[in-house]
Amino acid sequence: MTPSDLAFDRSHIWHPYTSMSQPLPVYPVVGAQGTSLQLADGRTLVDGMSSWWAAIHGYNHPRLNQAMTAQIAQMSHVMFGGITHPSAVALCRRLVDMTPAGLECVFLADSGSVAVEVAMKMALQYWQARGEKRQRFLTLRNGYHGDTFAAMSVCDPHNSMHSLYQGYLPSHLFAAAPACRFDEAWRDSDADDIERLITHHAGEVAAVILEPVVQGAGGMRFYHPRYLQRVRALCDRYGILLIADEIATGFGRTGKLFACEHADIAPDILCVGKALTGGTMTLSATLTTRHLADTVSNGEAGCFMHGPTFMGNPLACAVASESLAMLQENHWPQQVADIEAQLRRSLLPLADHLAVKDARVLGAIGVIETHQPVNMAALQAFFVECGVWIRPFGRLIYLMPPYIISPEALQRLTDAIAGALEKPGHFIGA
Ligand code: PLP
Repeated sequence: MTPSDLAFDRSHIWHPYTSMSQPLPVYPVVGAQGTSLQLADGRTLVDGMSSWWAAIHGYNHPRLNQAMTAQIAQMSHVMFGGITHPSAVALCRRLVDMTPAGLECVFLADSGSVAVEVAMKMALQYWQARGEKRQRFLTLRNGYHGDTFAAMSVCDPHNSMHSLYQGYLPSHLFAAAPACRFDEAWRDSDADDIERLITHHAGEVAAVILEPVVQGAGGMRFYHPRYLQRVRALCDRYGILLIADEIATGFGRTGKLFACEHADIAPDILCVGKALTGGTMTLSATLTTRHLADTVSNGEAGCFMHGPTFMGNPLACAVASESLAMLQENHWPQQVADIEAQLRRSLLPLADHLAVKDARVLGAIGVIETHQPVNMAALQAFFVECGVWIRPFGRLIYLMPPYIISPEALQRLTDAIAGALEKPGHFIGA
């Protein structure tokens, strides 16, 4: 990339959550292989992010590439209205097979946020078909479900974009975030607030929507699986649907194939995305039960009202199916367990550092929560100097590497984090 490419980028291209007038620096990447990203200046960086939970098998994987190349030779895209194709069928077979019991009907969508929109629309149409006006959702503080409007309306009302769009977002119900940590002794009182909201609002709530066990972008918090069991039981008792947003947690990241398995529960609606295609293309899916699908289909509209142009895109389905085939070969449990053990050894002792409020690890996710917010530009530059790609935000420095990462590469990531804590300039107000 030339300096003029970078100048064009700076003045014409928006990056995620950035200002057009005062953009943060961006680093030109010209290649990615395995667990490394290659910068335009020839440096390589160990990837600690899996491109936001997605590239679980590493980059440029020959099997994923082959799946895409073979599909391109057949057809990259064909509309899904009135047409089906082998890659969609193969993918959906695998999804039905792998996901918690009872989830039999699959809606293929474009991105995580759209999968959430679809899930919420399914819940709304379900109650409409049953002749009940239930149009509110109940969710958890500290949650994150995406950036489109319905998804935003169930994100944490304080640390998300809620205040910016006040008056435009529907008003939903927010229960206190679970406080009992994943590895603590369970306290039954943790579910009191959600129980209170459910009992008060049962007749108007269409569904509870939550991220099972790991609250991701809303704080990287790991909560107790018993909480999920309580919510499932409450939903059953009051006849409320449960939507599990496993867009971040799905496909092994937390040490179980789906985070719901930590609690041994199945939702009525499940959203997956991100790692679905092994991090190669955008695709998501919303799965539901036969009962829910039939009820929606027998309602007033006689169908489910959603159908994007690129629904079931063959290229994305082909690579997703291959990515799931690789997962089904079952190397991931050991890979994730090894990453977890190493992250525990390297990151948990950092909890004693003066700059650190908390250190936590679950599956292939490691989090350092600092007292002060990070100075993103300074910290990012430091990490790049160290030869690693770690993208912190707020007071969180976290790792979610590809499952294939070597112990040496992982050590470089954790060493860089330990080094970063030593420089006060990396934190605002420190
Ligand atoms: N839900 C969860 C739990 C997420 O972590 C994300 C993305 O970070 C989304 C939904 C939105 O997915 P996407 O960015 O693909 O729209």
